[in-house]
Amino acid sequence: MIDVTLPSPLLSGAMVRHRLSALRRYTVTRRTARQRLRPSIALCVAMALVLGGCNQRSPSGNADTATVVHVRDGDTIELDDGRVIRYIGIDAPERGKPGADSATAFNVAMVMGKRVRLEYGHEKTDRYGRTLALVYVDDRSVSREMIRAGWAWCYFFEGNLGHSSDLLRALREAMSAKRGLWAMPADETSDHYVASFSSFRFHRPGCEVVATIERDNELIFPSRDSALFDGYAPCGVCRP
Ligand SMILES: [Zn+2]
Repeated sequence: MIDVTLPSPLLSGAMVRHRLSALRRYTVTRRTARQRLRPSIALCVAMALVLGGCNQRSPSGNADTATVVHVRDGDTIELDDGRVIRYIGIDAPERGKPGADSATAFNVAMVMGKRVRLEYGHEKTDRYGRTLALVYVDDRSVSREMIRAGWAWCYFFEGNLGHSSDLLRALREAMSAKRGLWAMPADETSDHYVASFSSFRFHRPGCEVVATIERDNELIFPSRDSALFDGYAPCGVCRP
């Protein structure tokens, strides 16, 4: 696969939207899971163009280390210095959902009791006060490994797009190989889903957020997996 690294460390939201719009026709005309899981070279290149500029590491000095003392779930850990870390770029099943225990167990095996290195994006905390970071164990990205094993999906913010193309590539590989969550039956909650070009979330059609999306900005997916495969994550309000 061709990877294209753009000169700037981050694309502006407008550039991401502009380039995502070029993918729209491709996305909405795909019909079957088999077609969906056979990504075209063109799409890979386009996504690399969209996200490839985000693969630069943070500047030196924008990272530190700590020891993991507790694993909450597949995407959140606690450190010996008291900080709660929410992994950048991924989302794992919530407690009680299919695959949640396995995702947590995989995370425990990777990081529990280990000295980890943290790397930050532009947004350093979320609305719950958790620190947002990419976490590394022996230079292995935990976000990437969680996705690669099939226990998490991509969860992008415009303020934290570091390593997005790498994560999306790992997700597609895991889905195509039916690893982890992707070996389980699809958990459809609607007959189609709606997203907007200006965010990286998808919704049930009746979600209050969908009412605010302009028609020109609307993107339709036939299944959860097709939205996830294109790097969209479930909305936290309607939980599709
Ligand atoms: Zn929603």
